[in-house]
Amino acid sequence: MRISNRVQELKLSPIRKLAPYADAAKKAGKKVYHLNIGQPDIETPAQFMDAIKNFDEKVIAYGASKGEPFLVEAIKKYYAEKGMNYETGDIYITNGGSEALIFAVMALCDPGDEIMVFEPYYANYTTFATEFGAKINAVTTSVENGYHLPEAAEIEKHITPNTKAILLTNPGNPTGVVYTEAEMQMIADLAVKHDLAVIADEVYREFVYDGAYKSFGTMPELDNNLIIIDSVSKRYSACGARIGCIISKNKEFCQQINKCCQGRLCSPILEQVGAAALYTTPVSYLEEVNKEYQKRRDTIAAGLKSLSGVEASDPKGAFYVMVKFPVDDAEKFAIWLLESFDVDGETVMFAPGNGFYSTPGYGVNEARLAYVLNCDDLKRAIYILGEALKVYPGRIG
Ligand SMILES: *Cc1c(COP(=O)(O)O)cnc(C)c1O
Repeated sequence: MRISNRVQELKLSPIRKLAPYADAAKKAGKKVYHLNIGQPDIETPAQFMDAIKNFDEKVIAYGASKGEPFLVEAIKKYYAEKGMNYETGDIYITNGGSEALIFAVMALCDPGDEIMVFEPYYANYTTFATEFGAKINAVTTSVENGYHLPEAAEIEKHITPNTKAILLTNPGNPTGVVYTEAEMQMIADLAVKHDLAVIADEVYREFVYDGAYKSFGTMPELDNNLIIIDSVSKRYSACGARIGCIISKNKEFCQQINKCCQGRLCSPILEQVGAAALYTTPVSYLEEVNKEYQKRRDTIAAGLKSLSGVEASDPKGAFYVMVKFPVDDAEKFAIWLLESFDVDGETVMFAPGNGFYSTPGYGVNEARLAYVLNCDDLKRAIYILGEALKVYPGRIG
């Protein structure tokens, strides 16, 4: 048996690859504060479980490939309430935002094509591109300017004849950046000028803390170029439900997505029943969750400021912050934390930053911290990090 070169090229997820070290630490009796993975600890709204408990069919049958109509309508209504009017034929239910991204890349890219991203970026984008022989062309952003975008001319240098799409996460994972209207306009103008798709990964749309949020879906000039990636995973703390969707007003694109959907038959029926019920959750739920994350954001931001030598951006959305540690190598530091350090039997796990860059050598002393723990645990985790930085043998400066 011979494995494809494409798949051999894939990398382990930076978020999960240190898991064996965490398992060993736990076996050795340590408590590990998980700042590595964006798994919210917030309860999934009861509507989800209730709807599934009330499911009363004798057969779990195949459903519609493009998604169950009741869920599509629920999503349509959610968007309409945000001033974005989609038709039923614009929305395709997928197995999480992940499958929506896979379909988007599949529908846009032939081998050798390029997808532009802004690094640091969500590492799975590389996985999805590589699976189809496409390449990531990363424009670098930095902590110094809050991970905001460079000027249009700089971005244009990365647009080649093979570029098919600009893929961005807004609000950002791993950076927490929320793009300004001017930045969004610049992206829209570039996409139209160069005939590119904009793949807007907006799964963190409800997690914005300082001021209003604008979706790419509210920009009519992008109607023919825009692909929105959405998911219930983060919004309703339902990551394991594996329900997301792909949305576009481009009819030709939708026809192709419809074929992708038919190829994998349908998304899980019970989870679609549950997901549709999630969309009946009162807006107050999302507001409460937002408030809780805002508190956590404030807590981690204050904690990081108190650590000497640590540089962090000021995260405005999602639930991550990218930091620069005064260490030789953040991955070594992460492993050392799990293997060789504890404060009263407790230690911290985070995601090394290099996995969020595609430019070799970048992000070596950076890390992504997910503030998905309650404020007391976050304070404790930052305290432990601070103590660790005092004694870590690879400390620099
Ligand atoms: C979590 C996440 C997704 C998708 O997750 P699903 O659980 O597959 O919906 C997509 N993009 C980003 C940036 C994410 O963080």
